[in-house]
Amino acid sequence: MGNPTGFLKVDRALPADRDPAERLIDWCEVHEHMLEDDIKQQASRCMDCGVPFCQSGNSRFAPKVAGCPVNNLIPEWNDLIYHGRWKEAIQRLHKTNNFPEFTGRVCPAPCEGSCVLGINAPPVTIKHHEYAIIERAFEEGWVVAEPPAARTGKKIAIVGSGPAGLAAAAQLNKAGHLVTVYERADRIGGLLMYGIPNMKLEKHIIDRRIDILKKEGITFVTNTEIGKDIPAKQLQDEFDAVVLATGATKPRDLPVEGRELNGVHFAMEFLGKNTKSLLDSQHKDGDFINAEGKNVVIIGGGDTGTDCVGTSLRHKCKHVVQLEIMPKPVDERAASNPWPEWPKTLLVDYGQSEAIAIQGDDPRHYQVMTKKIEGDENGNVKAVHTVDITWGTNDAGQFVPNEVAGSEKVLEADLVFLAMGFTGPEAEILEQLSIEQDGRSNAKADYDKFNTNVEGVFACGDARRGQSLIVWAIDEGRRAAREVDAFLMGESYLP
Ligand SMILES: Cc1cc2nc3c(=O)[nH]c(=O)nc-3n(C[C@H](O)[C@H](O)[C@H](O)COP(=O)(O)OP(=O)(O)OC[C@H]3O[C@@H](n4cnc5c(N)ncnc54)[C@H](O)[C@@H]3O)c2cc1C
Ligand code: SF4
Repeated sequence: MGNPTGFLKVDRALPADRDPAERLIDWCEVHEHMLEDDIKQQASRCMDCGVPFCQSGNSRFAPKVAGCPVNNLIPEWNDLIYHGRWKEAIQRLHKTNNFPEFTGRVCPAPCEGSCVLGINAPPVTIKHHEYAIIERAFEEGWVVAEPPAARTGKKIAIVGSGPAGLAAAAQLNKAGHLVTVYERADRIGGLLMYGIPNMKLEKHIIDRRIDILKKEGITFVTNTEIGKDIPAKQLQDEFDAVVLATGATKPRDLPVEGRELNGVHFAMEFLGKNTKSLLDSQHKDGDFINAEGKNVVIIGGGDTGTDCVGTSLRHKCKHVVQLEIMPKPVDERAASNPWPEWPKTLLVDYGQSEAIAIQGDDPRHYQVMTKKIEGDENGNVKAVHTVDITWGTNDAGQFVPNEVAGSEKVLEADLVFLAMGFTGPEAEILEQLSIEQDGRSNAKADYDKFNTNVEGVFACGDARRGQSLIVWAIDEGRRAAREVDAFLMGESYLP
């Protein structure tokens, strides 16, 4: 511990966000940077606890008991930052996390929810320290390709280039195997690339890492859908093992009247096309859903919905509303949600704070149910009809919504985005390989084993656990890699 009384003397501080008026006219990242001395002061708040709950995330207890899913060695690098030993800090960080530049930007930081200081004070700014370490390491030129000294001759195909597939690829390549990653999109990165918008994660940050992975010897094949362009079984024949990291990309639909109207889209269509057009042509090709001048209604109050808010505002929409069926979260932890659980409290994310700055109010409306979507005579969406609800229990004890009489509203809408989560992986590749699915339609494989019912075929990330987080995808990719290595070699030295 750098400073035994740091946590008593230094208040939590984070770098400021850029002013919405400035950041809404570009697509660059929202956060400013912090000076090195200030980061050191923040690192001094770490108490180096005997039991560091922050680094002890465990899938068996998630999401109830949080902590870092990749078990980042947080108190160690806080101390190293405090003492200015940045090179050792990145060495320790890379031991547990292949891609801290992604998590340091977009992880919701369950570690901070279980920081011991958080029991009675604002927690240590762990996520920002992770970001600072990896960015310093890139600036200093410490992050370089480290190809394996020897090759095993074993060939592995990884399907999907999201964080799970990339983490598995990086680890298996380190073990000396020949790894090929197949991706159906034109760019590598999965939801890092075409889900999370540029203002949360600038895409050159992904390319910077992919360049290193290529130099280390990993082969990337884009624009190739396994199951269509190449039969899934062909991979089984040509490779010694196959890892399915295809994500959970099937969006939840809203079966209401008017769903088929023009202007009603899944959120991912809006977000994905926006990023592609931005990267291809700075939006000059016009090949995206443009919210400029439009009333936008987003159905779904989660992170995907928030990304639609931020994207609509950057298009200069007329007005944006985000509807959420669940109750508004509380401001402080409830007694039933004690530390070190993930705090289920109200957060004002970047999209909402931008809407507040531009429109004067939080775009989220809670306990609102969509009854129908209305169209005009040309089949274009015109309005969304809603009713307020309360939550109660029925005779069977199930949590059910009750409509509030007289609370019906009609919201003007030129665009409606459905951001209500995802129901699991697409089935085609699983069916071609006869992979068993679990009750939620995910590829069936135990956490910590990752092998499916088909020998030599493994599954990890959202394809196995359902839509989750980048940090869980990295964790699963790493763990699956160790199992694949052990399957091929009889034992594994991978962490
Ligand atoms: C809009 C949005 C915002 C999010 N924001 C955050 C955030 O801020 N922080 C966070 O921690 N998490 C966030 N998440 C969740 C996070 O992105 C996912 O949990 C994570 O990306 C899952 O990683 P994965 O590698 O398992 O799958 P994915 O990232 O979904 O990657 C799967 C890849 O497989 C490819 N693929 C699928 N089938 C095939 C096939 N047959 N052949 C070839 N390729 C195929 C897909 O094209 C895709 O590129 C967000 C999710 C969304 C949708
Ligand atoms: S990966 Fe996420 S949970 Fe782990 S230390 Fe970083 S911000 Fe915290």
